[in-house]
Amino acid sequence: MLVDRMRPHTSTIFAEMSALAVRTGAINLGQGFPDTDGPPSLLSDAAANIQGGINQYPPGIGIPELRSAVAEHQRRFYGLEVDPDAVLVTTGATEAIASAVLAFCEPGDEVVTFQPYYDSYAATIALAGAELRAVALRPPSFGFDPDELRAAFSARTRLVLVNTPHNPTGAVFDREQLTLIGELAAEHDAVIVTDEVYEHMTYDGRPHVPMATLPGLAERTLTISSVGKTFSVTGWKVGWVHGPGELVSAVRAVKQFLTYVSGAPFQPAIAAALALPDSFYTGLAADLQRKRDLLSDGLREAGFTVFDTGGTYFVVTDVTALGFSDGAEFCWSLPERIGVAAVPVSVFCADPDLGRSLVRFAFCKRDEVLTEAVSRLAALRSAVQA
Ligand SMILES: *Cc1c(COP(=O)(O)O)cnc(C)c1O
Repeated sequence: MLVDRMRPHTSTIFAEMSALAVRTGAINLGQGFPDTDGPPSLLSDAAANIQGGINQYPPGIGIPELRSAVAEHQRRFYGLEVDPDAVLVTTGATEAIASAVLAFCEPGDEVVTFQPYYDSYAATIALAGAELRAVALRPPSFGFDPDELRAAFSARTRLVLVNTPHNPTGAVFDREQLTLIGELAAEHDAVIVTDEVYEHMTYDGRPHVPMATLPGLAERTLTISSVGKTFSVTGWKVGWVHGPGELVSAVRAVKQFLTYVSGAPFQPAIAAALALPDSFYTGLAADLQRKRDLLSDGLREAGFTVFDTGGTYFVVTDVTALGFSDGAEFCWSLPERIGVAAVPVSVFCADPDLGRSLVRFAFCKRDEVLTEAVSRLAALRSAVQA
């Protein structure tokens, strides 16, 4: 029944692992969603908007208040001058990415990205009939080999899809890495699409560098973010994209026939939340950094090889030292064995050998949940040895 190009993309590991976690009563560190609510003002504003009748189609491009708030946010945090008319509100970052890929790629065109990658990238590129060219990010730093990146570009490269801070590896690309990506994109006249949904989650003082801030790159870059991660409301699915007017118009042409409009009662609430004081944003990062340390230390104690995480909700581990060679096999047995769920990194890879022994854990959970998970994980070493 299903078209050939979608057949490799029928199941998502998150649904399967979350179902397994529920069935076994395991703590779910597989899927990356927080288990606490976002800012109270955001929640009450949205509820008031629904009660107050903001429930019909908003403008297709998004309400002016939210587009202005996004522009102001980009100026405040990155010094970027963004025209509110060049901001398009979307149904999550996911729709912004899908609309961009569908807007710019003819069948057979190539999209350069990095693997492991966020799972929607491969499915969306397949939907467009485009070809994925995935450059490996390898432990321990999850950086890329510049020659490999160079070799991934060709005369058919239409788009470069960059995610920083990076899910699942936790890597935060630095200025030098982003500059090389930008140079190669310019050389091949490719559009750059950056997924920055973890922009406010970088640790140990690392800066988040939007590609649009690098010299000469704004003119070919579409910058994407969303409400879900920053405000701990991953179920709301309101995102945005900004960039040069003609690129945003192309994205909008596709977006309007995918969902038409997005989240009327949420938009004014999000506009207000984006203007929350710096203490909200720094508090979010500090809180998550502490959670990262709590889980990373626990995983190390339990015998995992743990890689440094510079940003996001996630820490990647290697299970080889625990006597496993296959992360997927490990993840399928973990809930039953010790009551914790995680996801194998191989499912985020075009080349599954790349992430074969790697497993991703999410730390965006309440401290008591992480503490309990760590104590369960501590039993793993003895369970393995027994
Ligand atoms: C969560 C996530 C998204 C999805 O964002 P939505 O706004 O919920 O669509 C996109 N990209 C990455 C890397 C993510 O982790």
